[in-house]
Amino acid sequence: MGPIGEGEALILRVSRNCPWNKCLFCPVYKGRTFSRRDAEEIKNDIDAVQRIRDLIDQTSWHIGFSGRINRELLTEVVRHHPEIYGNPAGLVSQDQYEALISLQNTANWMMCGSRRVFLQDANALATKSEDLAEVLRYLKGTFPSVQTITCYARSKTCSQKSLEELYEIKEAGLSWVFVGIESGCDEVLKYMQKGVTGAEHSAGGQAVQKAGINMAAFVMPGLAGNDRQLAQRHVTETLRILNDIKPAEIRIRSLAVIENSPLYGGWRSGEFSCADDDQMIDEIRLILEGLTFDCTFETLQMTNVLFAVKGTLSAIRESLFAQIGEYQAKAPRERLRFRFNKYVSGGYLDCVQQWGKYDEKLNQVIEEARQSLEGWDPAAGERTEEAICSIKSKGIP
Ligand code: SF4
Repeated sequence: MGPIGEGEALILRVSRNCPWNKCLFCPVYKGRTFSRRDAEEIKNDIDAVQRIRDLIDQTSWHIGFSGRINRELLTEVVRHHPEIYGNPAGLVSQDQYEALISLQNTANWMMCGSRRVFLQDANALATKSEDLAEVLRYLKGTFPSVQTITCYARSKTCSQKSLEELYEIKEAGLSWVFVGIESGCDEVLKYMQKGVTGAEHSAGGQAVQKAGINMAAFVMPGLAGNDRQLAQRHVTETLRILNDIKPAEIRIRSLAVIENSPLYGGWRSGEFSCADDDQMIDEIRLILEGLTFDCTFETLQMTNVLFAVKGTLSAIRESLFAQIGEYQAKAPRERLRFRFNKYVSGGYLDCVQQWGKYDEKLNQVIEEARQSLEGWDPAAGERTEEAICSIKSKGIP
């Protein structure tokens, strides 16, 4: 799965899993081993996408759809090719199932204009630069409609590439790298085992931007936990490196401690104390205050409880300050209710239910918080925080 905003993209896997895989807050690739894919293997995948695209296109014209793509057309493609897709009314093999997924993904990409490609998995720049450039050139040669190619990358990897390598990758077609900065504070980065320093974040980010590749920097309010002094250093140092790099986009991803992450055990044992949303909102306010350049500012993840926006910072900054000010002016109990309602009724819990992760224990924690908020229970704050953290621990929409 690609990140938020890549729903229109073709997903092309250039390496498997994460070469670092140690960040405490991250559950994504734990238990899975990193491996590179060679350029020929990836080019074969590009050829396969082209074959599927031709198949969809030819079938559309053959059955009188004049190039249109819809669900009915895909049913026809499957019906005409049981050797590839099996019998839709019967059981399908693993290969046939994967072929069906590829068909669906390629059709979705074509319907969106075949303009975007996202290179999976966690660090596409871990691929040898010459191989990556070869793949990018092949991709653009095969699909001239492609305008934007994006990927995740680690700052450390970016900082280890020469400027010439980054220029070559840019010239070959890479438009954006999405980098999990999370924090610029070495103390926080070390505790979270991010495997990179603030200085390396700066060097990697500046090199990428200098080469003309846009960078979206992911920043994580709450990563310093509830220690206010450390949180202040987390914000100050993060601002310092953001203002050095001046990424084209900043994406705010307030911390959620997720069940399958190593940090979850630390939270449950009391070793790591979570910042509440009030603190994370204040960290966002400080970030907004301290940014000295203009960029796209994005908060489209539900762990950012106060607003979900994407816009030019200079155009939206005042409105974001106003929303934060309005929230911070509420009485503590009102803020607690606002947050509880946002997580329980604002769509987050619906996602948890869709993922099949709503269980009796979670239900009980939520009901206890609800009752304590309705009465005058002095433990309402604690119960509500427990409920919110428990909802967030199920994953991130
Ligand atoms: S580098 Fe990214 S994908 Fe890898 S463990 Fe850290 S956060 Fe997760």
